[in-house]
Amino acid sequence: MPVAAGTPDLPAHARVTIIGAGIAGCSVAYHLGELGWSDVVVIDQGPLFETGGSTSHAPGLVFVVNFSQAMTRFAHYTAELFDRLRLNGAPVWNGVGGLEVAWTPQRLVDLKRKVSAGRAWGVETHLLGADEARARLPLLSERIHGAMYTPADGVGEPHAAAAAMAGLAAGRGVRFFGSTRVTGIDVAGGRVRTVRTDRGSIDTEIVVCAAGIWGPLVGRMAGVALPVLPLRHQYAVTEPLPALAGEESRVGFPILRHQDRAMYFRQEGEGFVIGSYDHEPMVVEPEDILSHDEASVMPSMAQWSPSAFRTAMVAAGELLPALRGAALGRKVNGMFLFTPDAMPVLGESPQVRGFWAAEAVWITHAGGVGRAVAEWIAEGQPSIDLWSCDIARFQPHQLTPSYVRERGAQQYREVYDIVHPQQQMRTPRQLRLLPYHERLEALGAHFVESAGWERPQWYAANRVLLGGSTGHGLRRHGWSARHWSPIIGAEHRAVRERVGLFDLTPFAKLEVSGVGATALLQKLCANQIDRPVGSIVYTAMLTPAGGIKCDLTVTRLAEDRFMIVTGGATSGHDRAWIERHVPEDGSVRVEDGSGGRCCIGLWGPHARELLRRLTGEDVSDGAFPYLTARPLSLAEVPALAARISYVGELGWELYAPIEFGRRLWDLLWHAGEDLGVVAAGLGAFDSMRLEKGYRLWGADIHTEHNPYEAGLGFAVKLRKGDFIGRDALRRTRSAGITRRLRCLTLDDASVALLGNEPVLIDGDVSGYVTSANYGYSVGRSIAYGYLPADCAELGARVQVESFGERHAATVTAEPLWDPAGERMRA
Ligand code: FAD
Repeated sequence: MPVAAGTPDLPAHARVTIIGAGIAGCSVAYHLGELGWSDVVVIDQGPLFETGGSTSHAPGLVFVVNFSQAMTRFAHYTAELFDRLRLNGAPVWNGVGGLEVAWTPQRLVDLKRKVSAGRAWGVETHLLGADEARARLPLLSERIHGAMYTPADGVGEPHAAAAAMAGLAAGRGVRFFGSTRVTGIDVAGGRVRTVRTDRGSIDTEIVVCAAGIWGPLVGRMAGVALPVLPLRHQYAVTEPLPALAGEESRVGFPILRHQDRAMYFRQEGEGFVIGSYDHEPMVVEPEDILSHDEASVMPSMAQWSPSAFRTAMVAAGELLPALRGAALGRKVNGMFLFTPDAMPVLGESPQVRGFWAAEAVWITHAGGVGRAVAEWIAEGQPSIDLWSCDIARFQPHQLTPSYVRERGAQQYREVYDIVHPQQQMRTPRQLRLLPYHERLEALGAHFVESAGWERPQWYAANRVLLGGSTGHGLRRHGWSARHWSPIIGAEHRAVRERVGLFDLTPFAKLEVSGVGATALLQKLCANQIDRPVGSIVYTAMLTPAGGIKCDLTVTRLAEDRFMIVTGGATSGHDRAWIERHVPEDGSVRVEDGSGGRCCIGLWGPHARELLRRLTGEDVSDGAFPYLTARPLSLAEVPALAARISYVGELGWELYAPIEFGRRLWDLLWHAGEDLGVVAAGLGAFDSMRLEKGYRLWGADIHTEHNPYEAGLGFAVKLRKGDFIGRDALRRTRSAGITRRLRCLTLDDASVALLGNEPVLIDGDVSGYVTSANYGYSVGRSIAYGYLPADCAELGARVQVESFGERHAATVTAEPLWDPAGERMRA
């Protein structure tokens, strides 16, 4: 193999320096090599391919399907890639398939959901009855309720896979250096410059931190806080079992998950690997990880903890009776990483240019992650949307050690739990409180957390609006009734009929100013930004390939001053994209004014009358048209009023200095009392926006979608001059659109979808649900999804699969609510 430890001299310069030759670093190196990048160096402190990191001891189970589309796609590709790899001619993959069993009826329901998720993401999955599962793995107990079977699952040999990828990378010119420890990273002018090691320094443009559990230490060298938590985790291998005597193949049976007891298994010759998460998280401080010289086995291993495995053997014997009383041979207490949201940390740090992360990467996802990160480095954008994995998704509070520890540990506890998509983390909470929080609390707000903010989903005080009914005839059961209340429908209708107050304070408000501000925004935005002062423009910012990178509004506050409003959770991501393009001549400033301003949405047919009561100024349609903004005094509160609505009603977003927030709420509340004003939560907000067909970035639109297929061509101005993505859009237009985002209405309005369900045309999966909700004004169950353009004409009949059942739906003209937009322009 052309990869050798102890290669004599480090080069003085490399375009890319990858720190870590575990599965993540090798995969990034291999994929960079495939993209033609050869000026790449990989450094590891351990001897190569006995590096002593997590890859050295993982048993290599690869369960492909995940409720996250990105993770499933990473894993699916990893399985395909591993299947192709060879190390010294030997395969590194054993495609035995995988079973996830249901020990409880609740798990069986969840597995039905997972079978559908797999199908939505293009992975073959099957729901098996107990007997069918036992036919694939006869050792299984008769007590199981059924199982999910995924033929694409299997077992990779982590070290062999890493070494095989490294060999291929080396063939493309990538150089590997073992037994070389990175001791520092020099940063100047906000950029990575040099990587220092105990064997010399390398000047470099790009550092990829693939240092696994050492990642926090490497991040610190560059001044980057990586939100990853090292934890210990155990598995053991039984001594040979009589039931498997004579088994030739090392792994013949499907790999197995027993999530009701937080366990996994795989065959190992005549024995079984048993892994367990059923214990309190065992946190490791990165500083305490032993060096190669100090560690008795390897640095990422700790002493076996019998107490953390106590319940495991009992549960193992219940599920696989042949394991009862089995003696344990090899025992591993290894270390790996968890993150606050259980997703990897990938991409370039928004704080330090040139510092890239490929952290918290499982063997399962390593192939896909390596490919995506390499594409991102080489081509500026990965081919799949990586918002859910992007290092820029974290807000400052989410980078604090305290937060990372609390949430990371909780993710470990919940790793195999049945988790509803809207389930909330219990701690830490109450981090960011709205200035009118007490008012919402007094109204019985049911709070959910978003980017640290406590936000109302609905208000118990609005139960009176139901008038004794259970909510406009809509009843929900099971999964769809969780984290839901009929009050949501009552709030929705009250806003459509009268007027409502919506909390919008978490919106990010970025101010872009300076003599170069207009030119910068013209370059970044697909819509025409150069409009009169006071204009509000809805626009996308595109990737060079024409994908929707950001979705936001730009309000011109002055000739050279703009306010960008975007989602609170996406603020770091959007800001990083804008800042990346700021010219170095100092002609543009980007400031984040989010924390200093509150915002309340005042929407509904009575919104103008309510506003009029608080200001002496003319707020008629003629004086204050739709899509304009201007300063407005509301009693003594100095506000900025923006006439725009995300729910499809007449109204304004009212911005004010945050210290006036409670006063603003009180003024609006009291002025609206006799108009029937209601406080309305996020539940009403989402169902109203879907009736109106407004796209949600991250779900309905992201970098894999262009504005034309997303139905947002109206916000693209190809003739305004050059902008990022314009050439790609022109090519897309001339090539023709092959898929479209479509509005589907279900025949049975009582069917509640959760999102991500597969959509079938003539029995074949043709897309998946990007957003779903019930439309309380139109009385329909609504779903959106991309479908092939040639078979998704209006009126086309499709099916949506949910929990294993298929529901008929129709491609319907949108928006369902007020298609002419008269209500907002009233
Ligand atoms: P590592 O393999 O740890 O590589 C990081 C490398 O960086 C190391 O080699 C280290 O020496 C090097 N490094 C660090 N700091 C420096 C420095 N300053 N200078 C130079 N080099 C440095 N995943 C699965 O998908 N399936 C499984 O079945 C599975 N089972 C597991 C079982 C256990 C017990 C554990 C602990 C983990 C398991 N995992 C599994 C998770 C998986 O092992 C890890 O997520 C994965 O190996 C991480 O790979 P990595 O390349 O990021 O890190």
